Amino acid sequence: KEFRNNLKPNWCPGCGDFSVQAAIQRAAANIGLEPEQLAVISGIGCSGRISGYIHAYGLHGIHGRALPIAQGVKLANRELTVIASGGDGDGFAIGMGHTVHAIRRNVDITYIVMDNQIYGLTKGQTSPRSAEGFKTKSTPEGSIESTLSPLEVALSAGATFVAQSFSSDLKQLTALIEAGLQHKGFSLINVFSPCVTFNKINTYDWFKEHIVNLDQFEDYDPSNRIAAMTKIMETGGLLTGLVYQDKSRKSYEDMAVGFQQEALAKQELKLSEGEFAKLLAEFK
Ligand code: SF4
Repeated sequence: KEFRNNLKPNWCPGCGDFSVQAAIQRAAANIGLEPEQLAVISGIGCSGRISGYIHAYGLHGIHGRALPIAQGVKLANRELTVIASGGDGDGFAIGMGHTVHAIRRNVDITYIVMDNQIYGLTKGQTSPRSAEGFKTKSTPEGSIESTLSPLEVALSAGATFVAQSFSSDLKQLTALIEAGLQHKGFSLINVFSPCVTFNKINTYDWFKEHIVNLDQFEDYDPSNRIAAMTKIMETGGLLTGLVYQDKSRKSYEDMAVGFQQEALAKQELKLSEGEFAKLLAEFK
């Protein structure tokens, strides 16, 4: 099972996104997927290039729209394992409306956000994840906006799987992606993925100094939503591990009428040529 292709990623040396790519490839192989069983859909940003660097079905979408495309792919062919991916700007700024509604809809896809707290592709502007006081070209006096907490938003929106990891911890990241891919519903995996070129504050060393691994709390119960929210707030959102999982809620496609049969993409079109032309004309 080979999820590598012959393309050389166009990321700066040391970018955290390399590890995310490797973790996806390892996780997919570890759970026994074949490349033709996986689709990786991405948005815009440096991280959006990831769909081209994995040997699987892939689509590099438009800004903030990875999730609607990924949900459409899953609903059209539920036999595919679907990953949506992108950056914090892509998912938590322009794409935030889609993120919240995809979470509460609970379509069975895995959303991996490469969170570097800045816009890298456009050369370093403040993102919703940047800290207050963060100075960039777009905020030369320091950001005066509060920082978005994606894990709190996800829990509030009814998420059934919430995890967070760090590019430097490939073992944990791979394990969490495996768990997300196997979760029957929407899984959000936010990954601290440093931008070594434009973010000189949230560096690898900074994360190593600040993040708290949930493994150190022996009695932590990821099925307890209130405990999850409390732990996120106690750690300022700088925790890693499986934060929350609800295995009881059914996925969207397991509940929606008509999606329990064979994948739409594989069903025979029961229309004559004339009827099909008439149907198409209605949408012109
Ligand atoms: Fe990675 Fe930042 Fe370079 Fe983009 S600009 S490839 S996010 S290090």
